[in-house]
Amino acid sequence: MQTIKENIEQLKEKIAAAAAKADRNPENVLLLVVSKTIPTDRIELARDAGQTDFGENRVQEAREKIPKLPEGITWHLVGHLQRNKAKYCPALFDWIHSVDSVPLARELGKRYKDKGKTCRALVQVNVSGEGSKFGCHPDLAEEIFTAILEENSLEAVGLMTMPPYSYDPEDSRPHFESLRNIRDELAGKGYGQDNLKELSMGMSGDFEVAVEEGATIIRIGTAVFGERNG
Ligand SMILES: *Cc1c(COP(=O)(O)O)cnc(C)c1O
Repeated sequence: MQTIKENIEQLKEKIAAAAAKADRNPENVLLLVVSKTIPTDRIELARDAGQTDFGENRVQEAREKIPKLPEGITWHLVGHLQRNKAKYCPALFDWIHSVDSVPLARELGKRYKDKGKTCRALVQVNVSGEGSKFGCHPDLAEEIFTAILEENSLEAVGLMTMPPYSYDPEDSRPHFESLRNIRDELAGKGYGQDNLKELSMGMSGDFEVAVEEGATIIRIGTAVFGERNG
């Protein structure tokens, strides 16, 4: 079995190859390691291998694990966030990928402001209208995006999506294309480029396709840590 360090090195090579295929600079693709269900000692192995950005999908689990890990890690929330859990986020997360309603954007804005902190925020869009229960309808993306822009403690940075699971990575391609098109439409309306530069899309099974379609953040769990038990 390969070590976590070897898995990360191999991923970086695959990211570079996928980027080259699409004439992209691999430095514009952030490897976000998703550490849900993974115990802290294994997360530390990834960190020792030089990994800086980690993602969790549940607030409760993050509250248990993050305080046990060294400072200097950049933490991202990638899973669905209930509004009543937003109060825990300022102490935990630097990025939230799963803003899927205006009231959630407002609540996060208030909570980060109260703590004197800022957070980078992405609108999660359910581009297919099926599969994942989470993420907003594409028609609502602009409204949520502008709500984030209005919150001084939040920095709008882009969009996120999670296509329905499939064995064939090519099935994800149209979903990734749709997210990019939504981003380009918003950019065409004159919102700042910096507020739309991130496309968080692609997981262990389909990240190469995502990089070809313009992903700037890929969220990878299994390909780093192996199959999850939970
Ligand atoms: C678990 C998870 C991932 C990583 O999935 P893998 O297939 O293990 O790479 C990415 N994004 C979200 C939102 C997740 O919940």
